[in-house]
Amino acid sequence: MSDTPAQGFDTLQIHAGAHPDPATGARQVPIYQTTAYVFRDSDHAAALFNLAEVGYIYSRLTNPTVGALADRICALEGGAGAICCSSGHAAQIMALFPLMGPGCNIVASTRLYGGTVTQFSQTIKRFGWSATFVDFDDLDAVKAAIDDNTRAVFCESIANPGGYITDLDAISAISDAAGVPLIVDNTSASPYLCNPIKHGATLVVHSTTKYLTGNGTVTGGCVIDSGKFDWSQNDKFPSLSQPEPAYHGLNFHEALGGMAFTFHSIAVGLRDLGMTMNPQGAHYTLMGIETLSLRMQKHVSNAKEVAGWLENHPAVEKVTYAGLPSSPYAERATRICPKGAGGLFTVALKDGYDACVKLVDSLELFSHVANLGDTRSLIIHSASTTHRQLSPEQQEAAGATPNVVRLSIGIEDPVDIIADLEQALAKATA
Ligand SMILES: *Cc1c(COP(=O)(O)O)cnc(C)c1O
Repeated sequence: MSDTPAQGFDTLQIHAGAHPDPATGARQVPIYQTTAYVFRDSDHAAALFNLAEVGYIYSRLTNPTVGALADRICALEGGAGAICCSSGHAAQIMALFPLMGPGCNIVASTRLYGGTVTQFSQTIKRFGWSATFVDFDDLDAVKAAIDDNTRAVFCESIANPGGYITDLDAISAISDAAGVPLIVDNTSASPYLCNPIKHGATLVVHSTTKYLTGNGTVTGGCVIDSGKFDWSQNDKFPSLSQPEPAYHGLNFHEALGGMAFTFHSIAVGLRDLGMTMNPQGAHYTLMGIETLSLRMQKHVSNAKEVAGWLENHPAVEKVTYAGLPSSPYAERATRICPKGAGGLFTVALKDGYDACVKLVDSLELFSHVANLGDTRSLIIHSASTTHRQLSPEQQEAAGATPNVVRLSIGIEDPVDIIADLEQALAKATA
């Protein structure tokens, strides 16, 4: 979708998808606060509805502000096309929607954001879809879990919250061989630290709520398509490779090639599911993305310093941060996310649940919130909040047992972050 020539990340995060406004010359992307767009004439309207011409019809489908954001994230991820939606969870449904039907399943990692585990293990059953959860470090188990009804393989690049890095190259080799797409949730890494498409992913999903916006102001999501998957290689994806009854019999793959998924997601997905991002929300995220690389560098350097300090604290049993040399994923991190392992990790305390609760309640600089990827340092006790709906086994697999807290390290002065943890740990273990 992006017509910006290949440029460096720091340039793309500011310029991709944006042009001076043709009507006014406005340098920043205007907030196009409009529901509908005037057609030039009836032929123009018909061409738009036939997808014969690309343009704006109605903001449930497309909007120039939202489109600028989709194009920018698409450029940062190295995709062919992208759509934005109302939240990260909406993006996950939007990614699966063109691929799935009743009786179809996905093979998903046990190490996922808690809300995603619930969405996949419970809610998607209402659509007649299901998920098989396996340990993605066990490549044979991933292979064995894929059956004739599997339509996608789903994992996170850096898994929230356990400090786990997925071997995307190995997993995409398995999904490729099975003729199904790999979908990677790249929220915890951000496109600055990891580009899943380079490691073989077909689709990338984001909760733009987190690092992409970066300041905890709006919820949003994005689905980026690599444009490289051959939807016609088998008969598994009829919505894309055969006449789509929901869009007057259009064969999206035949007509649109590498843009089939993106156009289907707009013309059918956003049209009928309506999980649309609004232009105000897109504006906040466009503002945030301009400084993504700078923030991620600081998140990473702060996280390394704080995790290293915590690892040596007598009250701490374990720190799971893939950016520490002691992590079992340290080597894999240098291949999957060479610029750093993110700003998110968990800390297990020797004194267990009670000490975790006291730590959370004693911190002053840290905020106790169900969010991550903010400029502010955040903490949460996952087992009693974000991962509360999970069984003890699911919590264990996700790295969210009752004796751990999740930290999202902000971009404040690291000395202040450590001082706050020091005083709160003293109270928690008193
Ligand atoms: C927050 C989050 C989501 C869900 O995104 P929302 O914007 O809250 O709907 C999905 N995956 C990961 C890794 C997340 O951190």
